[in-house]
Amino acid sequence: MMLLTRKMIEIRSLLQTIGQSESLTLPSIVVVGSQSSGKSSVLEAIVGHEFLPKGSNMVTRRPIELTLVNTPKAQAEYGEFLALGFGKITDFSQIQKTLTDLNLAVPETDCVSDDPIQLRIYSPNVPDLSLIDLPGYIQVEAFDQPTELKAKIQDLCDKYIQPPNVILAISAADVDLANSTALRASRRVDPRGERTIGVVTKMDLVDPIRGAQILADRNYPLRLGYVGVVCKVPRETKSVFSRGSANITSLITKNESAYFSAHPETYGPDSQVTVGTSNLRKKLMHVLEATMSASLATTSEAIHQELAEATYEFKVQYNERSLSAESYLAESLDAFKHSFRAFSDTFGRKEVRDIVKQELDQQVLNLLAQRYWNRPVENLRPVDQLAEGPQEHIENLPKADPENPLWHLKLDASTSTLTKLGIGRLATSITAQALQESVQNLVQGSTFSSHPFAIQAITQASTNILRDLSYDTSDELEICVKPYKYRVEVSQDEWRRGRDNITEVLKSELKDCDVATKAVEDQLGGKRRAKDVLSFIDRVRKGEVILDGNTDAGAGGFSAALLSKGREALFLRDRSDILRLRLAAVKSRQCSNPANKYHCPEVFLDAVADKLTSTADLFLDAELLSKFYYQFPRMLEQQFRNLDEGTVQRFAREDPKIRRHLDVVKRKELLEHVLKEMEGLRELEKREVRRSGRG
Ligand code: GDP
Repeated sequence: MMLLTRKMIEIRSLLQTIGQSESLTLPSIVVVGSQSSGKSSVLEAIVGHEFLPKGSNMVTRRPIELTLVNTPKAQAEYGEFLALGFGKITDFSQIQKTLTDLNLAVPETDCVSDDPIQLRIYSPNVPDLSLIDLPGYIQVEAFDQPTELKAKIQDLCDKYIQPPNVILAISAADVDLANSTALRASRRVDPRGERTIGVVTKMDLVDPIRGAQILADRNYPLRLGYVGVVCKVPRETKSVFSRGSANITSLITKNESAYFSAHPETYGPDSQVTVGTSNLRKKLMHVLEATMSASLATTSEAIHQELAEATYEFKVQYNERSLSAESYLAESLDAFKHSFRAFSDTFGRKEVRDIVKQELDQQVLNLLAQRYWNRPVENLRPVDQLAEGPQEHIENLPKADPENPLWHLKLDASTSTLTKLGIGRLATSITAQALQESVQNLVQGSTFSSHPFAIQAITQASTNILRDLSYDTSDELEICVKPYKYRVEVSQDEWRRGRDNITEVLKSELKDCDVATKAVEDQLGGKRRAKDVLSFIDRVRKGEVILDGNTDAGAGGFSAALLSKGREALFLRDRSDILRLRLAAVKSRQCSNPANKYHCPEVFLDAVADKLTSTADLFLDAELLSKFYYQFPRMLEQQFRNLDEGTVQRFAREDPKIRRHLDVVKRKELLEHVLKEMEGLRELEKREVRRSGRG
């Protein structure tokens, strides 16, 4: 018989993990009683330990779903809070503390919560039982309790005392049963008294004749009867036993039987009334088993129905594609690695070359601006005002003089700045950055994009690898370009390439400059207005207009903001002029010959930048790219394959679509599992019947 109850309790727990539907459960014993009726004492007498929250301030605020598991062969007694994952707790005062904390976590303003605490207790001394302890009924709210407290507790209890649950209605013998809140509540939902067990506590507080009368109550007759108990732990032993883990069952029963056997005429074996905690236990086991058995058919029907629904959803919504958090992670990772491999085929030496050269082009432009294009532009008239166009400027530039040491110095200094600018670090870091950005783009285009956890892990992995590789790579690359720091030879061919390239760079820079000029002109209110502002500033520059020191409020009829924009426009105009000028110079015949490098610093510096780039791209391809392409997928593999189950679950459930899919698959599996268990149970039941038939 025991085995049957155990099995049914297991199935009940399984059903709880599936949750949701009300019909998807097996009955339990619900314990109700008003405060101080002795409810906790009864439960603790059954468990054999003090473990329930105590205190004046309404300490039970959540239902406690208590599953007792009889472990006949074991010595140890312990509790487990399923949802908390604390593991086994052998110290019952610790269980008491945890329960108190969990209850007090419900804000006082909410009064009570219907979210149950699930506690399992394993012991050789407990029967297999499933009990639900509820907050005690209160008569009137204390002055510091919310006014709706009474009603809220009643609502919560009402929810649980519905059929097919068994009601364990606790009343104290020293209070008139007609006033028992528990029995009144029970009578409302079970008027014929078919599923209520009446427990009368504190039998020692009334005289035996009265006690026997109470237990034989005719006012609200119960089919399952009344049981009288004395659950008080003798005071003298209480202090010794209340803390820690000693079992108090025998103490209580000894104390209790001493009381009842002292009154054999009313409580003796021949009397019509049932008394004693051990009788109560037996009754509970019996009643629970019978009630659960009676519910099996209905529950099984409900499970079949739920399974049919889950199967339908699985089929229609998910095309019967099975999915687990692990398989989802593995698939996502494979797809990501695949896209990374595809990317690595498209990002090689040539791509590195492009980004490094682009960066160096910019550096060359900056150098030129600093060292060559910084003639006092005030002396230059705008190109569009020159009779002969840019040519006139070229004429006006200082004549190239290869004999002049200043010209040598200038180019040598510029070349040196370029070769010593730390190309190792610069090229490595921009390449690493480009890789990092590409990884981010791949993540955004992958299933990982909806998983903050994965994004973080992938970013971390690529950052770490690139950082580690960058240290050595940049140092070694710097060593590779070292010879250029002393001498750079440019062949005719390299010169030609440099000339072609810098022409394009200057052209594009000129275009950008023109676009920017146009934008500023628009901000100034169009070309004409811009011209007015600019010519005023021009006149100031040439000293034709003298401004007093403070131009905060503007000058010449122009606001300060307008003047500032005007200066910006002027800067851009000057730069455009110089760029046009130099473009013409680069295109000129003089610049077609490397021998004239001192006249054509643009071409020479470009050729140097090109040499540096060629060394860098070769080296970065071999050192940074290949190593990154090798290490990164392996690191991801290692990280993602070693995650613990909880993390994998959390990961997969971050995506609502996947969560739903996983839920349906899991629900279906659980329901199938539960059905199988139910079938096993039926077999067990048949065997029991056959055995008892033989016996
Ligand atoms: P609850 O509020 O319903 O959980 O009630 P408790 O179990 O905390 O009991 C309230 C008080 O009644 C406590 O002081 C208990 O010691 C006392 N009590 C419980 N059962 C008995 C009993 O059988 N006899 C006597 N005399 N006192 C009891």
